[in-house]
Amino acid sequence: ELTLDVAKVRRDFPILDRQVHGKPLVYLDNAATSQTPIPVIETLDHYYRHYNANIHRGLHTLADEATAAFEATRATVRDFLGARESREIVFTRGTTEAINLVANSWGRRNLRPGDEVLVSRLEHHSNIVPWQLLAAELGFTIKVIPIDERGVLDMDAYRELFSARTRLVAVNHVSNAIGTINPVTEMARIAHAHDALILVDGAQAAPHEPIDVVALDADFYAFSGHKVYGPTGVGALYGKAELLEAMPPWQGGGEMIDTVSFEAGSTYAAIPHKFEAGTPAIADVIALGRALEWVEQIGVSLIGAWEQRLLAHANEQLAAIPGLRLLGTAPHKAGVVSFVVDGAHAQDIALLIDQLGVAIRTGNHCAQPLLQHFGVTATCRASFAAYNTSEEIDIFVAALARAVEMVR
Ligand code: PMP
Repeated sequence: ELTLDVAKVRRDFPILDRQVHGKPLVYLDNAATSQTPIPVIETLDHYYRHYNANIHRGLHTLADEATAAFEATRATVRDFLGARESREIVFTRGTTEAINLVANSWGRRNLRPGDEVLVSRLEHHSNIVPWQLLAAELGFTIKVIPIDERGVLDMDAYRELFSARTRLVAVNHVSNAIGTINPVTEMARIAHAHDALILVDGAQAAPHEPIDVVALDADFYAFSGHKVYGPTGVGALYGKAELLEAMPPWQGGGEMIDTVSFEAGSTYAAIPHKFEAGTPAIADVIALGRALEWVEQIGVSLIGAWEQRLLAHANEQLAAIPGLRLLGTAPHKAGVVSFVVDGAHAQDIALLIDQLGVAIRTGNHCAQPLLQHFGVTATCRASFAAYNTSEEIDIFVAALARAVEMVR
């Protein structure tokens, strides 16, 4: 039975008490960025008040404390992802930087002209463009895993796309634009049977379902802090230790070296530090750790189950809006509804319902190839989090009904 105490969860989010245009905020843009609970805000505040210092290179108390908290977060992320070792966790600015790291380090070292990388039509631009940039330089080919009319990956087509030249599959765990949950464990098994690696973009999975990179057998797994109740501009890349060890650094600077000499050249630190050049977002990394603990205290499965309930309620309510077409009707999907309405521009709808306090996202959701598949250039997207309620969905749908009447 579902025991998520949503009233208690909401008390952790002061922002939910604010008003927008004189109306209580109904925040349904969680797939873009989730809100931040008090323990995470307090972690940031505590860091700057008590132990702000650069990490790894100090021999003073503040530097030691900051280093200890930073490295403790690596263990928190390791456990959150089910990884075996802390050194398999690299801190990045987020999912985007994590994927760019893999492209520029592993990709640049391993991809040759004529090689093939499989990318799905469901991808966020951040799992498309880094591969296109590199392909233009190195001359490998990008092949696209197609989807059906529900927005579900065509697994037969996936199997057939493999050739002796397939080196990597890059796929998201959950689609940000329409919520499809992809069978990544099965996809990894198939990729490995063809001696290809798999990189999973977990940006939209981390807040909604338990992740186990070992059971999944992901070679690389990326996620962002700000979609899982943590700060913006910080995230992590998981990579299997033997892969990370064989990869060259991609950014040079302090922290990532062992020795530097003009005569003998430079040697590099061990993983993960080899991939963490420069001073990282120390406070934000530590606060990300607190966010993951906050999620685990509630239970990510429970959060996911709660959001499924909200999704079912939203689907029911939205059916009453005439001319509304839902994009993405996968049987397994996260708490996201993406839709267009006949005779009403997505932008107009979003602006009108913002006047009623309701925050949703419109546009292409950084997934233009996916929207092209559905023959649209923009959708409205409402996405749910642990603190959303059925009452908020009713407010959203009532606001939507009013907006649609006004613009028609
Ligand atoms: N992949 C997916 C599936 C996403 O939803 C997002 C964020 N919208 C990203 C990647 C990029 O994440 P970030 O901007 O935090 O790097």
